[in-house]
Amino acid sequence: MQYKFHFHPYKRQFIRPLQTNHGTWDIREGIIIHLVSETGNIGFGEIAPIPWFGSETIEQASEFCQQLPSQISEEIIFSIPDRLPTCQFGFESAWKMLNETLEIEKRINPNPLKFSALLPAGNAALNAWKCLWKNGYRTFKWKISINPIVEEIAIFESFVQALPEGAKLRLDANGGLNYDEANLWLFTCDRMMAKNHSLDIEFIEQPLPPSQFIEMLELGNCYGTKIALDESVATLEQLETCYQNGWCSIFVIKPGIIGSPSRLRQFCQQYQIDAVFSSVFETDIGRNAALRLAEELSLHKRAVGFGINHWFSEDNS
Ligand code: MG
Repeated sequence: MQYKFHFHPYKRQFIRPLQTNHGTWDIREGIIIHLVSETGNIGFGEIAPIPWFGSETIEQASEFCQQLPSQISEEIIFSIPDRLPTCQFGFESAWKMLNETLEIEKRINPNPLKFSALLPAGNAALNAWKCLWKNGYRTFKWKISINPIVEEIAIFESFVQALPEGAKLRLDANGGLNYDEANLWLFTCDRMMAKNHSLDIEFIEQPLPPSQFIEMLELGNCYGTKIALDESVATLEQLETCYQNGWCSIFVIKPGIIGSPSRLRQFCQQYQIDAVFSSVFETDIGRNAALRLAEELSLHKRAVGFGINHWFSEDNS
């Protein structure tokens, strides 16, 4: 089967710059892919790289699209190299959409996904959660390891006291803590949960950089607060390696950058991992493809990290 192929780049500005331990992010750049089959079926896909997370750059993705002919085959789609994981996701999801148009219309989901809302870093979180709570969010994620740890723990302590029963909190360090700081955060979470039994800190995401895998395994055994790997499992190859090296706690999966959706599906089904599906700040095209995977593969029914629309204004989405 041959498909007509078009692509166009896009830029989307965050309402306010997104701060993480990787730095400040102002504009999300990506590429929308468009495939048309010989029978006129249409499929859209999205390439939304995050190079500091381990994916290709937007330039590399765009170079790949530019060198393709205007008609492409399934063989091309399924042989995109592993060094271009966001291209694998974009092309394969466009292909899947095109081949499943009728099936999507019939689908009724008996277990709708819950969403986790991303809070602004620092003390802006102390107010931001209230509006999100009113909008129905019950799980929140707060970025840490941006400001000095003493400051962040002080904010955290007042934050958790303000959170109502039924709220869940995730902390995300983006690999920015050192070993002592990670211990202090885990200890603080355990202590706060022992003091307040209705407090639910779901996990700390990627406390240490991916190179300190053994240390994270060790820390996972020392505290009640769970650790989730994120930067450590940015690509399928890394996910397989961490699993084989004994990680059996939580994995954050970003379908938009991890690589081929069919290989991801196979891995999750084979090993039944505890996965939290998460956004890469993509548009609705990539988001819908990623959420379909999340619905299918979220075995533990954890909230998905797609509560991010409040980071973009509607005008440029
Ligand atoms: Mg993360």
